[in-house]
Amino acid sequence: AERVFSGVQPTGNLHLGNYLGAIKRFVSLQDSYECIYCVVDMHAITVWQDPAELKRHTREVTAAFIACGIDPKRHIVFNQSQVSGHAELAWIFNCVARMGWMNRMTQFKEKAGKDRENVSLGLFAYPSLMAADILLYRATHVPVGEDQKQHLELTRDIAQKFNVDFGPSIVANGHNDTFFPMTEPLIAGPATRVMSLRDGAKKMSKSDASDNSRINLTDDADTIAAKIRKAKTDPEPLPSEEEGLKARPEADNLVGIYAALNDTTKQAVLGEYGGGQFSTFKMALVDLAVAKLGPIGEEMQRLMGDVSAIDAILSEGADRARVIADKTIRDVKDIVGMVRG
Ligand code: ATP
Ligand code: MG
Repeated sequence: AERVFSGVQPTGNLHLGNYLGAIKRFVSLQDSYECIYCVVDMHAITVWQDPAELKRHTREVTAAFIACGIDPKRHIVFNQSQVSGHAELAWIFNCVARMGWMNRMTQFKEKAGKDRENVSLGLFAYPSLMAADILLYRATHVPVGEDQKQHLELTRDIAQKFNVDFGPSIVANGHNDTFFPMTEPLIAGPATRVMSLRDGAKKMSKSDASDNSRINLTDDADTIAAKIRKAKTDPEPLPSEEEGLKARPEADNLVGIYAALNDTTKQAVLGEYGGGQFSTFKMALVDLAVAKLGPIGEEMQRLMGDVSAIDAILSEGADRARVIADKTIRDVKDIVGMVRG
């Protein structure tokens, strides 16, 4: 069976990049795959989170999933910490993954910055927990933004090494010799890496200090309009061909956002706005962004009004996730040689 897994951290400030690179794609996969969408609170605490805020943000990501169109009845929506298998498998993967592999992870380097001695051990091990999230469900496909590509490659390396290291035991326990699948990333479309509105060289991020760098899913129409009007651009008019966006990261970013929001291509957008003034295009982008994001923000607000309903969705999703996860954990323990009752 083809199974999709993906996650979003409850670290606040859900933004347009999370929507276009991840959540919008989660929605579109629901007809073709069995989907498991997780609010990854254990990943969030690799950087200190205020406890009350962590709860609020966990419910907010859940509300965003549902407001965007994920159906928690047909698919599984839950928060990571409610299924203990994530932590259990992550420990085993910590013993499979190599220090050298982890040392090459660019997200760790970026997030740790200069003060490497003082970041959590969890931040370093993050990719190992992510591999556990995916492989606990033996997911075959993972929709993510471009920034997660390297972590997906590491997930395959871990799966491969586990399959080889325990090969004879895997077969002796009655499994096919590729116990963990080689998971495929699903990274496609015109907005796999949405950039900051203030700096075309940095990705749009929840953790960016400047609120003007991103469009939040909960921003109202006036805020969206102001942020797009202020977005950094260059003085040239838009080109008519996609080629012409190459050395213009800010223009490329805004055209990509328009294309993704409108389910079309960058070339089609340039066909309509190429050669014209940037300000005309920005006005059209404001209208489009407000039309697409406005209803999502409002629905999130409405859902957030009933915390117990959100918590019930997460707990019911966790119950269903646990059925799959517990089976994997039992199999893995047998394969590794851990005695169990
Ligand atoms: P943080 O700064 O806390 O890491 P984040 O914005 O990177 O926050 P995550 O929860 O780490 O958000 O990522 C959730 C999903 O959103 C992932 O699939 C990730 O690839 C995707 N994503 C994050 N930022 C972008 C972006 N700028 N463009 C496209 N996809 C993105
Ligand atoms: Mg991130």
